[in-house]
Amino acid sequence: MNPKIIHDPEAMQHWSLTERAAGRILGLVPTMGYLHRGHLSLMETLRPQVDRLVVSIFVNPIQFGAGEDLDRYPRDWDGDLAACRNAGVDVIFAPEPAAVYPAEFQTAVSVARLTAGLCGALRPGHFDGVTTVVAKLFNLTLPHRACFGEKDYQQLAVIRRMVADLAFPVEIVAAPIVREDDGLALSSRNVYLSAADRHAALGLSRGLFAARKRYAAGERRAVELAGTAHRTIVDHAGDACALEYLVVCDARSLEEIVTVDRETVIALAAKVGRTRLIDNIILAANPEATGKNP
Ligand code: AMP
Repeated sequence: MNPKIIHDPEAMQHWSLTERAAGRILGLVPTMGYLHRGHLSLMETLRPQVDRLVVSIFVNPIQFGAGEDLDRYPRDWDGDLAACRNAGVDVIFAPEPAAVYPAEFQTAVSVARLTAGLCGALRPGHFDGVTTVVAKLFNLTLPHRACFGEKDYQQLAVIRRMVADLAFPVEIVAAPIVREDDGLALSSRNVYLSAADRHAALGLSRGLFAARKRYAAGERRAVELAGTAHRTIVDHAGDACALEYLVVCDARSLEEIVTVDRETVIALAAKVGRTRLIDNIILAANPEATGKNP
């Protein structure tokens, strides 16, 4: 079945209100389109949990900074439609920017501390753009559940915070990172990579995996884990991966830590050629170190 396509925000909200009134459970997967297996995994995660699955496709202009890739962000409407059809999506919500942000629009949703570091420090205004659009998408699609990928780990943490702080009646479902067979995290932006860039970019996941291996072997010092990741990236890619940050953080607060004694994320961002990539791995809490072991 072809998904129903809705462009108009009011029509979207009306559809959702009607479905909710009929007692149906609604799910939302927000995306910027150019759908790949990472997006599909979010749809597969949510599909069995809901009666109606909505996928939004909206390249949100206010989350792009000056000089970022808004103008060349990849788009493939026909491919996205086919992907949604195969995934059993009920509705594609694809509004125009002018409908989401009419001329009089002047409201922002902003999460404070969680956006201070990592990508938030390097992309001023980015997360305000994300939380503002996600809040609006929630109000237009009225989902009971919404699925976000761990690929954008800070975004997931920020959305969870917004939902808790503002009491959105939406359950946030997280889905793990989908990778290529060789380890590269899937991203719509991978299409920008030349063959040489693509090879260099592989260093990023290799670095994270090397750190995870050292963690599994017992290393708990953040500086050592970061050092291993960094060296692996440089050994693989030389200066073709320009790291913007590589940090070992508390998985909840996203504050940098010295010792991995709780659930931790190692997160990085790098420029490969003109393309900005992000990746991360989660290190599960060590029960012995946290003293929770019986
Ligand atoms: P985007 O279209 O890049 O804004 O991403 C839309 C959603 O898909 C976000 O929740 C992302 O975290 C998620 N996503 C993107 N790439 C991946 C991936 N490789 N694995 C899992 N989720 C992903």
